[in-house]
Amino acid sequence: MNKPILIAGGGIAGMAMALTCHEIGVPCRVLESVRTLAPLGVGINLQPNAIRELDDLGLAHHLPEIGIEATEWALVGRNGNDVWSEPRGTLAGYNWPQWAVHRGELQMMLYRAVNERLGADAVLTDHRVVGYENTPDGVRVKVQHRDGSSTMMDGALLIGADGLHSATRAQLYPDQGAPVWGGAVLWRCTALGEPIRSGSAFTLVGGLDQRFVHYPISAPDPETGLQVQNLIAELTFDPADGWRDSDWNRKADLDDFLPQFEDWNFDWLDIPEMLRSASAVYEYPMVDRDPVDSWVDGHMALIGDAAHVMYPVGSNGASQAVVDARVLGAKLVEFGVGPEALSAFQDQLLEPMNALVLRNRGAGPVGILGLVDERCGGVFDDISDVIPRQEVEDFMAKYKAAAGFAIDELNGAPRTIPLGATVEGAGAA
Ligand SMILES: Cc1cc2nc3c(=O)[nH]c(=O)nc-3n(C[C@H](O)[C@H](O)[C@H](O)COP(=O)(O)OP(=O)(O)OC[C@H]3O[C@@H](n4cnc5c(N)ncnc54)[C@H](O)[C@@H]3O)c2cc1C
Repeated sequence: MNKPILIAGGGIAGMAMALTCHEIGVPCRVLESVRTLAPLGVGINLQPNAIRELDDLGLAHHLPEIGIEATEWALVGRNGNDVWSEPRGTLAGYNWPQWAVHRGELQMMLYRAVNERLGADAVLTDHRVVGYENTPDGVRVKVQHRDGSSTMMDGALLIGADGLHSATRAQLYPDQGAPVWGGAVLWRCTALGEPIRSGSAFTLVGGLDQRFVHYPISAPDPETGLQVQNLIAELTFDPADGWRDSDWNRKADLDDFLPQFEDWNFDWLDIPEMLRSASAVYEYPMVDRDPVDSWVDGHMALIGDAAHVMYPVGSNGASQAVVDARVLGAKLVEFGVGPEALSAFQDQLLEPMNALVLRNRGAGPVGILGLVDERCGGVFDDISDVIPRQEVEDFMAKYKAAAGFAIDELNGAPRTIPLGATVEGAGAA
């Protein structure tokens, strides 16, 4: 049998990569550092470009089990008045919906599909990738286990899908240092609550230095009418003062941020009350990494956050992780399992993703709230007195085009991986 593609990391990108390899008939193994995969994290949004790919993978029917279709996106000023609201997904004209889901449940859904389709030995847990070396016809990967032992594994390629603290990226860029913190800290949690607005809106309240995000990640319970709602409180500090290391799973206290939101109580949304009813709160200093010139090193390529971790301000992280896996799969079909496919993947995505990382540093689509702050301190009665509708429309259209989810382009694009396409002679496991 041909050597498998080795995938470092069983997160969203790694699992999507494994399912894609299976679809195109290429053997693969996922090497995941944790001993047991668990549904960690809180809410994330999957844009139509990613939903399209999940649909092509035959997984879209699982989405109602892990989230809710998102139909509205709204920006709200500090005084609770609307700045902007727009339909999302199919209501906005996309051929595919947008979904708001639980990040950990998405990962587990993909994991189950990998197990069912590729077999239970496709994902090897307690396999932390700590290094690799290119060989004439592939790659040797060093894997460490919790008991202190290590293993060498041979692969045709190594795909570095090992996230924010990627070891594969660190080998390629030993001097990159810690992730870059720009001063914002997010406190993330979930709470049960009654539907607000359209019942599945992404609602962002505030300005650039302090804001609150609310979106449901489940349909209302038929008996109680309550939904699981994803809540994010965000404050900005002086980056020069530094913060604790970035970690998606660090637990925090309400007292760290609730006092700053005590008076954010509007007739339609009681933010302090909602935050008080939340289950565990997780703190995340909003970090990214400076863009790099290459994601490819011979038979190794980075995808997902390992390649282009960015501020979670435009719902791009998980969506792009899925899209990366699919684009790489298409290149494997076109060029075969080798460095040429990796280069072609990079040629297509490196430049636009690097631009998106930098664009998201500028607050992404939320930049509109910065303009409102500048012009009226976020307090207004009628938003058209502050910012003309056309100005917001132009801003949003530019962002969507840059993030790869311009409506016409996405609707008109052929399938990323043609139906039934496989890699000749790859020898599927
Ligand atoms: C525990 C956790 C919770 C998160 N919660 C949220 C959230 O609430 N909201 C949000 O917007 N984003 C969250 N994220 C980030 C989000 O999942 C990513 O931004 C996005 O999905 C891109 O996915 P990815 O697969 O590139 O990275 P990730 O989803 O981060 O997956 C990386 C995977 O690689 C594994 N790994 C790391 N190092 C190694 C190594 N050396 N060898 C082998 N495996 C390794 C990790 O255990 C993880 O499973 C979270 C990530 C994690 C890991």
